[in-house]
Amino acid sequence: MTLPIALLEKYSQPGPRYTSYPTAPYFTESFGEKEWRDELAQSQLAGRDLSLYVHIPFCDTLCYYCGCNMVATRDYSKATHYLGYLLREIDLLADSAGQGRAVRQFHWGGGTPTYLHPDDIARLAQHIHERFEFAPDVEAGCEVDPRELTQAHVQALRAAGFNRLSLGVQDLDHAVQLAVNRVQSEAMIRQVLGWMRAEGFNSINMDLMVGLPKQTVASFSHTLDQVIDMGPDRLAVFGYAHVPWMKKHQKLIQETDIPNFAVRLEMQTLMYEKLAQSGYVYIGMDHFAKPGDELVKAQREKTLYRNFQGYTTHKNCDIYAFGASAISQTDEVYAQNYKRLVEYQAQVDAGHLPVERGLRITPDDKIRRDAISRVMCDLSLEREPFAAQWDIDFDAYFDSTLQGLKLLEQDGLVRTTVERIEVTETGRFFLRNIAMCFDAYLAAADQEKPRYSRTI
Ligand code: SF4
Repeated sequence: MTLPIALLEKYSQPGPRYTSYPTAPYFTESFGEKEWRDELAQSQLAGRDLSLYVHIPFCDTLCYYCGCNMVATRDYSKATHYLGYLLREIDLLADSAGQGRAVRQFHWGGGTPTYLHPDDIARLAQHIHERFEFAPDVEAGCEVDPRELTQAHVQALRAAGFNRLSLGVQDLDHAVQLAVNRVQSEAMIRQVLGWMRAEGFNSINMDLMVGLPKQTVASFSHTLDQVIDMGPDRLAVFGYAHVPWMKKHQKLIQETDIPNFAVRLEMQTLMYEKLAQSGYVYIGMDHFAKPGDELVKAQREKTLYRNFQGYTTHKNCDIYAFGASAISQTDEVYAQNYKRLVEYQAQVDAGHLPVERGLRITPDDKIRRDAISRVMCDLSLEREPFAAQWDIDFDAYFDSTLQGLKLLEQDGLVRTTVERIEVTETGRFFLRNIAMCFDAYLAAADQEKPRYSRTI
């Protein structure tokens, strides 16, 4: 399908990505270790399955577009030092997590998890496996940077039980790579892919980025052709968010090199067309997958869910997250660790769970979170079952939401009937805008609003 540029222009506005609701800027420091420990004691009783996340913040070099919480260093001793703290934090939390809870999802992100040497990958994984009970069919994924990666890393990841890898590609054009300080040839990526497939990894994701400096429609089209030819199982194509007021190093990017809005939209529409023609299914929120992929199946069966790692097929899990800046989540709370390494380490040194901020969510937050999740994952919200589940009068509760959706309906992004609110084929590309209609924090006029990246 061809997306009208006018529509993309109209709906390009600042908005959250809804990996959580309420979003992270609303977490507060009045929620700390004590509140997190109270919640751990409570949630232990509920005994939900677990999703574990580990944050490795180190990278060899700095990519100028980076929006992550990371430390660029070539001093490996910093990583070994950090690893010691991670192991201690894992012990601290494992003691409070309760017994018999199966780990269904396991993810390492960063930074660059493969900054760790293969023997340290093995050590960390073994430590976690000793402290938690992993389900035999656990979905275990790791983010991988092809630069500096060796075959021994890939083997160590496989031996550590990982079955999914996500490869940071971003763009294959040399001029773009130079402009963002991330040079990695196509040959290097193909070699790494070969190692992964030889080790038996049959779920490989690639991350691309649109809107990077020096990108042109022609160069991006060529990158897409090369990537499609490599045949990843999943693709995530994120829009570059230029937020130098938040990420100071983005000032290293020449603003005049950033493609203008019209070019960016052209690249995006080209990307949607090319990936569709190549058989990829658009899940939503910049994620594509091959038709047989679990994400596509889960979306069809309405069992897809969204959390800090993006789309997932594991809905009813508590997330326990380890490492600086990592965010844990239960049904009731969000708890984020200290972002700065010195503070994180000082807390662990003192025997504390290193929670800096968080939030206990309200009943209204829960209802809206569920509605946003259904829209973003199922692409429809069934009014009656939803109202019955939450014991609300749907139309009265979501009165202002429904008013807002009317405008989107006029543009063909949603269809509202007495039974349901349904995202149209076109609406799939505007999920953030649709979700924003359900967001009570955006609607509250009396608060200072966080600054979000643009939806398109
Ligand atoms: S490798 Fe990833 S986390 Fe590290 S600087 Fe580059 S984009 Fe950021």
